[in-house]
Amino acid sequence: MNKIAKYINQHIIGNVFDSPSILEKYSTDRSALKITPRMVAIPENTSDVRRIVRFVNQLSKKSVHLPISVRGSGLDKTGADLGTGLVLSTEHLNKILEIDDHSRLVRVQAGVTLGQLNSALALYGLTVPVLADPRETIGGLISNFTTDAGAGKYNGIYYYVDCLEAIVSTGDAIQTNRYNRRHLTKKLDLTSYEGEIYREIDQLIEDKSELIAELGGRNTVDAAGYQMITQVVRDPVRSFDLLPLFYAAQGTLGVITEVILHCSVLQPSVRHFVAAFESISSAESYIQEIMPLMPEELNLYDARMFKTSADHGKDPALFAPKFNKGYFVWAGFDDKPRHINKKLKKCLKLLPQNAAAVTETDDNTTDFQRFYSAIVSYLNNDVSGERTPICDDFYVPSEHLSNFLTDLRDLEKTYGQELPVFGSFSTSNYSVRPDIQLNTVEGRQFVLKFINDFDSLLREHSGSITGGAPEGRLKAVVAEKHFTDEEVALYTKIKNIFDPEEIFAPDIKLGATTNATVRHLRASYLNDVIS
Ligand SMILES: Cc1cc2nc3c(=O)[nH]c(=O)nc-3n(C[C@H](O)[C@H](O)[C@H](O)COP(=O)(O)OP(=O)(O)OC[C@H]3O[C@@H](n4cnc5c(N)ncnc54)[C@H](O)[C@@H]3O)c2cc1C
Repeated sequence: MNKIAKYINQHIIGNVFDSPSILEKYSTDRSALKITPRMVAIPENTSDVRRIVRFVNQLSKKSVHLPISVRGSGLDKTGADLGTGLVLSTEHLNKILEIDDHSRLVRVQAGVTLGQLNSALALYGLTVPVLADPRETIGGLISNFTTDAGAGKYNGIYYYVDCLEAIVSTGDAIQTNRYNRRHLTKKLDLTSYEGEIYREIDQLIEDKSELIAELGGRNTVDAAGYQMITQVVRDPVRSFDLLPLFYAAQGTLGVITEVILHCSVLQPSVRHFVAAFESISSAESYIQEIMPLMPEELNLYDARMFKTSADHGKDPALFAPKFNKGYFVWAGFDDKPRHINKKLKKCLKLLPQNAAAVTETDDNTTDFQRFYSAIVSYLNNDVSGERTPICDDFYVPSEHLSNFLTDLRDLEKTYGQELPVFGSFSTSNYSVRPDIQLNTVEGRQFVLKFINDFDSLLREHSGSITGGAPEGRLKAVVAEKHFTDEEVALYTKIKNIFDPEEIFAPDIKLGATTNATVRHLRASYLNDVIS
């Protein structure tokens, strides 16, 4: 075992490993990248995290660089949880610490998964209504600022986090809170590192007020950089909260260790509705009509993605014969049963003549579950390569969607492959999964070229490649192009205030380079089911 790992092991309750088989496991996530770390730390508690961070900071001051990459469940699609130094996994920080059903508050460690949390809350008739993969951790959801499929109705994770505790680069713990000016003064007067962070961020917001106002007023959705600086100070009372900075920070400002969330009342049931349309224009007109019914999710799927699924026995046309071309609109309603029935009837009533639809009943629930399995089948049954996520969760404003899809056909011709789009109409976040052959040089060259071309196409339609999740390592190669020099200076300063020694993932977001990203592209396929 290397000396550093051994030293840390002597000082924490958890473990640090450097055996090749363990390092291999933490060298990949859901992205097209592979980076083998020098060691993996699995802290058992906050005190372990503090000791690890403090030690790495001290090493850095002696010019020994061991960057920390924080990892939740490792489902990131941009390689933001991978790193060459120490991967700090929150897998054992997985305790639900308190549930106060009366005030609908829950306190958890950051490695608690969404599925674990919602199973526990369900016993109290409560939920955190985020429609994401149940394996995602709360720390990961915050750090990736994930726009989930239910965010159109329930506003996403941002709406449910009240405050958090994070370990910053000195190993100190800071607790976020929304402070009025009087309480903020107390924070500004602190002589600790926490006080320094408060003072410097407060000063930065004052110095860069014009730029921050301009960023806040932009009419687009983009999670790149540290754009949530716009939410730290809120009018009219100019309250101040560091919490927003941790959204989309991807572990670059500190390790989130605890989170307090507030919950919603769990709806008793959900029923779905799916309709098939021959053209995007008829699907869009219909969607506009059913939007006011406030579905929990409202998704759009290009029917071409189901052709592969049908070849593997997962055919939506089995339960709806006309479902073989055009676009599918999928809606879920999670109201009281009486209201759901009314809404489903309304969906059928509004349906144009040339469309086909099926509503979920007690008898066909399994068909609806099969619809989802058909998507997973498409994502995993590629004959010539892998449908690795490289352009997931991009943003296209609804008024540009139709033209964007038309122009996407040109890209399909250029690349000689179909690029069916799927995603959430209610949040305007979609994905495409090109067929990639990572085991060839041409395949890896394709990744970078495709991301660049796709990003240009999105920009032509007022979209953004980092709309639903931040840039990490992979999308950083295009995201940074769009920052002005002033923005880069602002984001660099934020990073510097929290992490002057650059110990937290210095090579993602602003620190990512095309050369490094290309070097880290995987040359083999993931031995796992991709979702
Ligand atoms: C391009 C892209 C598209 C996505 N699309 C979808 C989607 O369609 N549906 C969906 O449900 N999700 C999507 N996600 C979200 C992603 O799958 C999860 O949000 C994320 O992976 C959270 O789960 P995790 O626990 O696996 O976190 P990880 O993948 O392990 O980590 C994600 C990021 O959060 C940081 N992090 C994790 N825990 C902490 C912590 N405690 N403190 C500080 N930093 C931390 C990591 O360093 C990393 O940067 C997308 C993400 C990206 C980047």
